[in-house]
Amino acid sequence: MGANISDIALIKKKNIATEARISIGTLRSVEAAKMVCHECDLLIDVPALGIREKAFCPRCNYLLASNHPHAHAFVLAFSACALLFLLLAITFPFLGFSASGQERTVSLVQSITILVTEKLPSLGLVVFASIIFIPAMFLVAMIYVMTAVGRQRSLPGTPAVLRSALLMLPWSMAEIFLIGILVSFIKISSIADVSLGLSFWSYVLFTFCMSVAVLHLDRREIWQRVKSLDHV
Ligand SMILES: [Zn+2]
Repeated sequence: MGANISDIALIKKKNIATEARISIGTLRSVEAAKMVCHECDLLIDVPALGIREKAFCPRCNYLLASNHPHAHAFVLAFSACALLFLLLAITFPFLGFSASGQERTVSLVQSITILVTEKLPSLGLVVFASIIFIPAMFLVAMIYVMTAVGRQRSLPGTPAVLRSALLMLPWSMAEIFLIGILVSFIKISSIADVSLGLSFWSYVLFTFCMSVAVLHLDRREIWQRVKSLDHV
C-alpha cells in the first residue's frame, strides 16, 4: 500500500463524543504538517492541535498526534524518575534463589556478565545495550531536550539529541525483558524458591515511568517546539 494518498486527519477533542473532519478551509490559519500513518501508510495533513486535541487517521483511526497539556513537564518528570529507578535497579540484588539449602542472589549486571563468562559476549552486549544502555541514553536525552523546551531556550545540539533519542527508542527492550523475567520466574519457582529483590521492583517502576514518558511524547509536537527554540 503506497503512501500516495493525501487526506485530512480526524481531530477529536477530549470529552467530546463526535469526531469532526477538519476541512481544508479551516486550516488556512494554522500550519498543516504531513504525516504518514504508522498503521496503514496513508499520507495525511495534520493541522496544529489545540490543548487536549488528538488527530486520528481517517482510514484506520490510528492515533497520529495528541496535544497533552504540559506534556513536556510530564515527559521530563517521568524520565527523571525512570532514570533514578534504573540506577537503583543496577545497585541492589535482582532475584534470589534457594534450593536444597543453597541460596544465591543475582543482580541485574550479573545476569549480563554471566553471559560473557559463558562465552556469549555478543549476546551479553546486546542485552546490556537493549535493557540498560539505550533506555538510559534515551532518558538522559529526553531530560536534556525537555529542559530546553521548558526553559524556552535551545541548548547545544538539541535537535541532534532529539533525533538520536527517537532513533534509539525502538531498540529499547526494557518491557520485553521484564515480561521475559516474569515468564522465567513462573518456570523457576517450580524447582526453587525465588525471591524478588529491591532491584526487581525498581526495574518494574523504571519500566512503568519510561512507558508513561513515551506515551506523553508526541513526536510531531516536540519537533515543532524544538524547531521554534531557534527562533525565540
Ligand atoms: Zn491509518
